Amino acid sequence: MTTDRTTSPAAADHGNQRGELRGDCSSCFGLCCVALPFAKSADFAITKAAGAPCPNLEQTFGCGIHAKLRPSGFRGCTVYDCFGAGQHVAQVTYSGVSWREAPATMTEMFEVFPIVRHLHELLWYLDDALTREATAPIHADLHAASARTRDLAGSRPEALLALDVDAYRQEVNVLLLQASDLVRACAPGKPKNRRGADLIGARLAGADLRGANLRGAYLIGAALRGADLRWADLIGADLRDADLRGADLTDALYLTQPQVTAARGDATTRLPRGLELAEHWTANGPR
Ligand code: SF4
Repeated sequence: MTTDRTTSPAAADHGNQRGELRGDCSSCFGLCCVALPFAKSADFAITKAAGAPCPNLEQTFGCGIHAKLRPSGFRGCTVYDCFGAGQHVAQVTYSGVSWREAPATMTEMFEVFPIVRHLHELLWYLDDALTREATAPIHADLHAASARTRDLAGSRPEALLALDVDAYRQEVNVLLLQASDLVRACAPGKPKNRRGADLIGARLAGADLRGANLRGAYLIGAALRGADLRWADLIGADLRDADLRGADLTDALYLTQPQVTAARGDATTRLPRGLELAEHWTANGPR
């Protein structure tokens, strides 16, 4: 068995770029708090239409209930991450001029934001694939896709709105699948294929899921305590309320911060480089 993490300078550069792919609310215009719709549920205390500012959004684009989001019924806000799209749209696409300052840009800005978020999410996955030694045979293709995706994200609003983002995601996904096969081959034995599986509430504590294909799997509330998920492909897996205490996800592929934050874990949960234990977890488990 070999590690699939490379130490090459090129890959390290890409690893460093991952920091830019996390939301920086202080440089944004509260785009996710306005552009996106919410439905009243366990994650949101209110129903809100797309384009309508959340009543908790302050004039300066801060959240008026930031310190008490979970007890106030806005758990979804603590889980969401824009992959850095918010600050990019605010500061790059619209040059730091907010929708409050220039209301004529409002509708367009709110349409552009989710498109850039899709592109930044793809960049997160591509950058993850590029940090893996196992994907060396396709590094050139991954670099090219990453560069093209960055160019698209940096496009003018008209070009972004004209982009068929679903088709582009499908195109990049072909490469992400190739990378997944190469990375998962690092795992010993015959990796499990549970792509898109219904594993809601499944009892998988201590399971050997190294190299498993869990793309799009429904792992809501699954008992994964102490499970070994190294080299598992978790792209799009729904980990809401999954028990990750003591689980090893150090080399899990395509894992994102929203997935981690939506799950339950504690200080014994092991995560890939660049991801953090959720603030609401404690040493004794989630509160
Ligand atoms: S509750 Fe706060 S973080 Fe959530 S949408 Fe409203 S303003 Fe934004």
